[in-house]
Amino acid sequence: MVTAARTTRAERMAMPLARHVVKDLAAEHGACVRPVQLRRTEIDTGHVEQVLIPCGHTLASVCPSCAERARILRAAQCREGWHLDREPVIDPDPATEEQRARVTDRATAQAGRDTLANEGLDTGELDEAIGELDQQITDAGLRGTVLPARPRRHRSPQRRQDAAPLPRRTVNARTVGKTYTAPDGKTFRPSLFVTLTCPSYGRVGEDGAPADPEVYDYTRAARDALHFAALFDRFIQNLRRYTGYDLQYFAAIEPQRRLAPHIHLALRGTISRHELREVIAATYHQVWWPPTETVKYDGGHLPVWDEHTGTYLDPGTGEVLPTWDQALDGIGDGDEPLHVARFGTRFDAQGVLAGSPDASRCIGYLTKYLTKQLGDCHRAATDGQAAHATRLADTLRYEPCSPTCANWLRYGIQPKNVRPGLHPGACKGKAHRREYLGYAGRRVLVSRKWSGKTLADHRADRKAWLTGMLGLPATDLSRYSWEPVKPGDPDHMPNGQRLLHVVADRQKWHAALTNARARASSETSPNLSAAGTAA
Ligand SMILES: [Zn+2]
Ligand SMILES: [Zn+2]
Repeated sequence: MVTAARTTRAERMAMPLARHVVKDLAAEHGACVRPVQLRRTEIDTGHVEQVLIPCGHTLASVCPSCAERARILRAAQCREGWHLDREPVIDPDPATEEQRARVTDRATAQAGRDTLANEGLDTGELDEAIGELDQQITDAGLRGTVLPARPRRHRSPQRRQDAAPLPRRTVNARTVGKTYTAPDGKTFRPSLFVTLTCPSYGRVGEDGAPADPEVYDYTRAARDALHFAALFDRFIQNLRRYTGYDLQYFAAIEPQRRLAPHIHLALRGTISRHELREVIAATYHQVWWPPTETVKYDGGHLPVWDEHTGTYLDPGTGEVLPTWDQALDGIGDGDEPLHVARFGTRFDAQGVLAGSPDASRCIGYLTKYLTKQLGDCHRAATDGQAAHATRLADTLRYEPCSPTCANWLRYGIQPKNVRPGLHPGACKGKAHRREYLGYAGRRVLVSRKWSGKTLADHRADRKAWLTGMLGLPATDLSRYSWEPVKPGDPDHMPNGQRLLHVVADRQKWHAALTNARARASSETSPNLSAAGTAA
C-alpha cells in the first residue's frame, strides 16, 4: 500500500490555509469578508430565509471590499455635486397636523414657564414637561429643536488686530457657480480644487520628520489638529460671506508627511487665487478655554472624587476644584484665548472643468486615503519618522481634547459634565489615540446642498441600477420581518460558513451579470465599474 509521503513542517507551512483562500476569494469577488447574518421571514407564509448583508465597514484593514465600496460611493457623490448647473431641490415636507400640535403644546408650556420664572416661582415641573415635549417633537419626526438646549456663552466678537478685515456680502441662496462664455460662444462653468494646510511648526525634512525636534512646536501642532474642524467651519463661513453665495463643498481630511492634517476641497464655482488668499489670511478660530500653563496635579498626586458632592477635591487640602463654568468665568476681558488656529499661508488651487481628466484625478485625490485611519496613511519608515509620531502622540496625551476631557484635572479644573473615574492622561476621547493624530472629526465633510442627496440616496441609485440590469424585482420590504441571527441561535452560521455562501453567491451573480451586460452591450448604460457596489 502506498502511503502519502511524509511532509516536513516547512512544506506544510508553505501550503495555503484553506480558510484564508475562502476569505481571499470573497475579497477578490469584491464581497464582504465579514458578512452579517439576518433571518428574513415572509410574514404571510412564515417562510424563513437566511440573508447575508455586507458589514459596511469603511476601513480597508477591517473589510477591504466594504471599504472600497464606500470609497467609490464617496467618489460618485463628489462627482455628482461638483459641477452641478441646476440648484439641487431640498424642500422639506410640510409639517403634519400631529407635528404642528406638538409644537403648539411646547409653545404653551414655554409661555407658562416664563411667566412663573418672571414671578420668581419654581419652574421645575414645567421644565420637566418641556423636556418630555421636546422628546415628543423629535419622535414626531421633526429635525432639530425649537430652542437651543442651553443659552450659549457669549464672547465679544472683537476681531484680533492681526487678522485682515474681510469685506462682507449678504449671502444669497444660490449654490451654483458662475457660467462663463468663451469667444467662440461655448459656455463653461469651472469649479475649483483647493488644498489647505496647517502653518509651519518648524522645518521638516523630506520624510516629514522635524530637522530639529527640540524647536518643532508640538503643542501648536497638536492644538491645530484638535481644532482643525472648527477652523474649517470658519473658513467656509468666511468664504460664503466673501463670495456672497451659498458656496458648496466636498472635502476630505488627510495627514501630510509631517502628520499635520490638511484638507482637499472640491468647491462648486470658482474664485480667484487672490480672493482665496485674502479669505485664508482672515480666517482664524479662537479657543476660549482655561489656561493650561501650570500643571497642578501629576503622577500620584491627583484630585480625588468625592462621592457625596459629586465633585473632585484637592488630595491634600480637600478643597473643591473649580468647575468648568467657574473656570470659564475666570477668563477675563484682558486674557488671550488658549489657542488661535489658522491655516498656513501656503495653499493650492486649480480650476477644474466638469468631466475632464483633471476632475477624475482630483476626485481620486479626494478619496484616496478614505479607507485608512489618519495615522496609517504614512507608515514610519525611518527612525526620525517614528520618533516624530511618538512625540506628537505624547503631546496629544495631555492636551485637553474638549470641555469634557479628563486632562482638565491635570490643570486643576473639573471638566464639564464631571463624573467619577477620570484620570488625566487617560482620556477616552479619540483625538488622543495615535491613529487619529489629534483629529477625531469626520474624514469627509460635505455641505448640505452638494448633490442634494445623502450617501444612502447614492447607494439606492446604484442598487436600483443593478437590480434593473439583472431584471430582478425590487424587494417589497413590508412583506418581510428581519432579525439579526445571534451566536447561540440554532441557525447561526460561523463566519467561515457565511464566507462559503458569499463566494458561491458571487459566482452565480457574476455569471448573471456577465449575461446581462452582453444583452445590454448595444445600449448605453451608466458606469459599469459600479457593478460591485449594490450587493
Ligand atoms: Zn464588509
Ligand atoms: Zn480628552
